[in-house]
Amino acid sequence: MTSFDIDKAFDIDKAMVLIEEAVRPYPKAAMFELADEGYDSPFEQLIACIISIRTYDEVSLPVSRRLFAKARTAAEMHQLSTADIIQLINGTSFAGNKGPQIKAIAQQLVEEHGGELPCDRELLLSFKGVGPKCAHLALGIACDGPYISVDTHVHRITNRWGYVEAKNPEKTMVALEEKLPRRHWIDINRLLVPFGKHICTGKRPRCSTCPIRDMCQQIGVTSSR
Ligand code: SF4
Repeated sequence: MTSFDIDKAFDIDKAMVLIEEAVRPYPKAAMFELADEGYDSPFEQLIACIISIRTYDEVSLPVSRRLFAKARTAAEMHQLSTADIIQLINGTSFAGNKGPQIKAIAQQLVEEHGGELPCDRELLLSFKGVGPKCAHLALGIACDGPYISVDTHVHRITNRWGYVEAKNPEKTMVALEEKLPRRHWIDINRLLVPFGKHICTGKRPRCSTCPIRDMCQQIGVTSSR
């Protein structure tokens, strides 16, 4: 099949509707769940994303809530010691690195930005420990910004579809920015994270009951259920 035929066959609008329905029974991705609970400022979203790095949602969600119970703004976070922050985020991966990073972000915001995190991509990316995945997700959710966040699920699934062909998440992000309609830029992460956890899983995806099986090229899938 030529790439033109693949593009024609893969109806992204239809796929997003079907996936929305398919993931309805499952928990939302952590950042979207936190936003629904009111933790939707750029600062809270950025800190929650740092906490979530290499950490399961089941752990990062209660850890984020525990930290935000003590400090929800940069000024409040700045009042905590680095040791306090490390203790509060205990359980997340690399807490010993993330604690100082969170403290440094809070300090810089207090000293240079009046305690507010502006919706400024370059500023977010300038913080130690913050890459495009977290910066884009925080900006997308908290600032309604036109950004795509590509994590392991978005990367794996869009390549399996044959919608993009890219070797790593960074290249997938660039490819999606060129191809994916802007109306789906936030939802591609919101929907594909639970879809990737429960249906299009890393090993043995559930292709036999997948609602978009007819459209999917199943590229790289060698074993499925
Ligand atoms: S058909 Fe299989 S590989 Fe394709 S999206 Fe569905 S679960 Fe994933």
